[in-house]
Amino acid sequence: MDYQALAQLLFPNVTDTPEMLEERFPLRNAPEGAVITRMAPSPTGFVHLGNLVQGLTSERMAHQSGGVLFLRVEDTDAKREVPGAVEVLIDTLKHYGINFDEGATHDGDSGNYGPYRQRQRAGIYHVYAKKLVSEGQAYPCFCTEEELSAMREKQEANKETTGYYGQYAMWRDRSMEDIQAQLNAGNPWVLRFKSTGSIENQFKFDDLVKGKLTITENNVDHVLLKSDGIPTYHFAHAVDDHLMRTTHVVRGDEWLPTLPFHIQLFKALGFKLPKYVHIGPLMKMDGTSKRKLSKRKDPELALTFYKAEGFPVKAVYEYIMTILNSNFEDWRRANPDASTDDFKFSPKKLNPAGSLFDYAKLVDVSKNVISKMSAEEVYELLTEWAKEFDPEFAEKLVADKDFAVSILGIGRGGKKPRKDLAVWKDAKPYMGFFYDDYLELPVFDDRFENNVIKTVLEKFLAVYDPADDSAAWFDKVKAITEEIGFTTDMKAYKADPSAFPGTVADVSTFIRQAVTGQTNSPDLYTVMQILGKERSVERIQAVIDTL
Ligand code: GLU
Repeated sequence: MDYQALAQLLFPNVTDTPEMLEERFPLRNAPEGAVITRMAPSPTGFVHLGNLVQGLTSERMAHQSGGVLFLRVEDTDAKREVPGAVEVLIDTLKHYGINFDEGATHDGDSGNYGPYRQRQRAGIYHVYAKKLVSEGQAYPCFCTEEELSAMREKQEANKETTGYYGQYAMWRDRSMEDIQAQLNAGNPWVLRFKSTGSIENQFKFDDLVKGKLTITENNVDHVLLKSDGIPTYHFAHAVDDHLMRTTHVVRGDEWLPTLPFHIQLFKALGFKLPKYVHIGPLMKMDGTSKRKLSKRKDPELALTFYKAEGFPVKAVYEYIMTILNSNFEDWRRANPDASTDDFKFSPKKLNPAGSLFDYAKLVDVSKNVISKMSAEEVYELLTEWAKEFDPEFAEKLVADKDFAVSILGIGRGGKKPRKDLAVWKDAKPYMGFFYDDYLELPVFDDRFENNVIKTVLEKFLAVYDPADDSAAWFDKVKAITEEIGFTTDMKAYKADPSAFPGTVADVSTFIRQAVTGQTNSPDLYTVMQILGKERSVERIQAVIDTL
């Protein structure tokens, strides 16, 4: 077989050579040890936690080594493409602090190793396709769907491995005449790789996450180019990651089964193999067993979920770090205020079997993260969230910023800051009572008679002075407690509750409920300071009037 002639027959218009491409995309001028890596999503419009895990891993590896992170759009499957998906992906990742140095952007491509969208690279793939054909390493296959199904059925009936290999590779050694006849008839063809591998052979391979793997050689003649001339993932992966000078391929471990073929393909093309970082799936506990997070069953897989709930970006980021690198939490404890960029991220610390996603833990991390923010920062982030997800609440926050900031400042700072908020959605139930529109009428404990409660509130109004400090304020509450025959001695009360009609805690609760409508609130003295005398008195009076 004259492979040169076959290559010319199949790709008459390809005049570029691999050498020209090597020159056009020279080795990068990167410092020793710099990681050049990429995200290579298919633009399906669904951005999920897995993207974030992969994005964060590749971003950290690139940027902490002084390397490059680029975005390549794998749009070879036009049917699955959703308009605007690339933009959504770029924006979402940016939101999480993952910025690309080059690649696809909102306005075209940026960088010297493009185009960065695979559909625009057809000409490049064909250069290497032609090369492989001219070397006898690839060939056209004119099999019809029917022939392929018949082959599969026969293999299944014989209990053989299914696939296009060995004796089943019908077009592997066909003559030029056969090929020419099919071409003349205008029949569609795909380009297949001519595998020289044998499943009898195994070799060792080092994956940065999975460790040492024993790999069985590939013997299948996989498709390189589909009948429309567009490459399969495998072929595009080899050509693109070579020409874009990727040093590390960070991707999901669903690609592990085809890794033997990828290794083979790099070799056949004469390319240096990159390092591989195969990330396990995100798992969650379902009852007592673990399972993969699923798009269908788990709303928490989608990144939009975190935005709508109101998890601060920083919390999600910190949490993902926590599950990816087991030493992150200890590092964070030792460096509470350091930037996450200072943490030495290592792909070797990723759990090879996949990380366990634990929502309750995320909530904890988020509470911590929010508790360390300034009131001003909380205000800004909360308002931004509310503008999108609770515009009415946002209006209130914006109408009086100082008021909102002082509310959000309660219990902030100091050694043990309050941890009331895990997500911005928690803010309204927590602080809504400060706003008259959200204030609810109190429902008092029916162990107490209305006139006792009324007496307490009236007595309180008679002595209430906003100029008191918190100790003086509480002394007044204690005095009222004793005046009505309740006790301030909580120990004695605990020893024999039946000996007392009520305690100072009950008295405080009456006042708290009158002011806030609820039995729980942050420190009541502080709440009243923030509300101011007029509004506090008004609220207490309004409750008195109902009793
Ligand atoms: N387009 C592939 C995917 O979304 C990319 C895998 C890779 O990073 O190589 O799974």
